[in-house]
Amino acid sequence: MNDVDVCVVGAGFAGLTAALRLKQAGQAVTLLEARDRVGGRTFTVERDDGSWIDRGGAWVGPGQDRIYALMKEFGVSTFKQYTGGDAMMVLDGKQYRYQGTVPWSMSPWASLNLGAAMLELSKMCKTVPLEAPWEAKRAARWDRMTLAQWLRKNVMSKAAHDLLETAIAGTYTSDASEVSMLFVLYQMASGGGPGFVLGGAGAAQDSRPVGGMGAIYRPMAAELSEAIQLSAPVRSITQDTHGVTVQSDRMTVRARRVIVAVPLAIASHIVYEPMLPTDRSFLHQRMPSGAIVKVSIVYDEPFWRANGLSGQSAAPGSLATVTIDGCPDTGTPGVLVVIIEGPIARRYERLDEAGRRQAVLDALVERFGAKAGKPVDYVEQNWSRERHSGGGMISHAPPGVLTQYGHALRRPCGRIHWAGTETSATMCGWIDGAIRSGERAASEVMMIETLTVA
Ligand SMILES: Cc1cc2nc3c(=O)[nH]c(=O)nc-3n(C[C@H](O)[C@H](O)[C@H](O)COP(=O)(O)OP(=O)(O)OC[C@H]3O[C@@H](n4cnc5c(N)ncnc54)[C@H](O)[C@@H]3O)c2cc1C
Repeated sequence: MNDVDVCVVGAGFAGLTAALRLKQAGQAVTLLEARDRVGGRTFTVERDDGSWIDRGGAWVGPGQDRIYALMKEFGVSTFKQYTGGDAMMVLDGKQYRYQGTVPWSMSPWASLNLGAAMLELSKMCKTVPLEAPWEAKRAARWDRMTLAQWLRKNVMSKAAHDLLETAIAGTYTSDASEVSMLFVLYQMASGGGPGFVLGGAGAAQDSRPVGGMGAIYRPMAAELSEAIQLSAPVRSITQDTHGVTVQSDRMTVRARRVIVAVPLAIASHIVYEPMLPTDRSFLHQRMPSGAIVKVSIVYDEPFWRANGLSGQSAAPGSLATVTIDGCPDTGTPGVLVVIIEGPIARRYERLDEAGRRQAVLDALVERFGAKAGKPVDYVEQNWSRERHSGGGMISHAPPGVLTQYGHALRRPCGRIHWAGTETSATMCGWIDGAIRSGERAASEVMMIETLTVA
């Protein structure tokens, strides 16, 4: 039995931040992590040549002030995403090269539709109150509607429709028919609007930390040192009038309060005694994750750059749905990242290992030329098969959930406090949101304890 002030469950960015801020404030903390590593949905692996690969979350962008503050605290610098050369869109087998966020080289009708939809989405986002999206004037209407229904009604051009569906539903790694329109607007608004979510330079994929996300989470873990217990999946949390008893496979922790910082999609794997209030426990049942596979394909050189391509491409329906340049700051080795999301990720998973690799490389050869077929390494990370993530990138709300259960997202249940990117009203779904949630939960705990003592 380990006796501390606060127990934190889950050492992703949310839990690491919460534990770090509590420790820095002089609280005794234990952080219990199920895996044998920290980082959660971020996972940086170093290669023999000294370069690194981010197998999970990787990019940062303007407005993500809390991750930038953390990087400053630990002396981590960033480098800009490579955007030299053209991006590429592949629709019905035809390739369109373009610069910037929007492929204006598609037909004028498609471009017009795309522009109008982006404008409409921006306007709708501005009406969503971030702290309580369920209180938006049109919340009930938008929460009855799926993203698929909205796109069908508002985007007439097939090319623009397919492109937006791939890009937006891709963020939730699910079919557009699975996601509430209110949730889409809320999540987009929490990052500043659709331009931020779907953009590259100056938006969500603006930069990356030198050394990958591990360059940030490793020093955080080092500062927490023996407060972290790895390979300690938490099985139950029992509350009584004086505190909580948190039972994991490795140890039992007795604390005044507990911060649970695990993905919503798997929060119900823990047994809570007494049972959680119905709205909270039903929220756990109703916010699933989607399917995502991130493949990092390593080449001797980023050959696409020499051919005037940025490495960014989107091909709705293809197994290699989205690609992006994932080279380290030095530019070598060449790393082309392939993101496979939603129903296509599930289709990809049904192939055997050789079939998966061949299908992706064939698609890349069509897009980038013969050199794409000759990688030196093929690193596959299937987040849907990660027991302690339950999928990726984030948990999303299907229709009806935000208006019915959203109010329970951050509300503590007795001595249990909730963190995790899904609980953040700002940058919900990003690493920055996870950090914000950790800081919010740590302050919440310290404020309540101060009031209790007073
Ligand atoms: C492929 C992919 C790409 C992404 N790209 C980006 C990006 O470029 N930029 C960006 O900002 N975001 C990105 N994201 C999202 C980002 O990674 C997440 O928002 C963020 O990492 C979530 O952090 P978290 O701490 O809330 O949750 P997590 O990172 O999921 O941490 C939860 C932790 O809890 C642990 N845990 C679970 N159950 C238990 C238990 N019972 N007991 C103890 N521990 C438990 C888990 O092992 C994990 O370590 C991406 C995500 C994925 C999957």
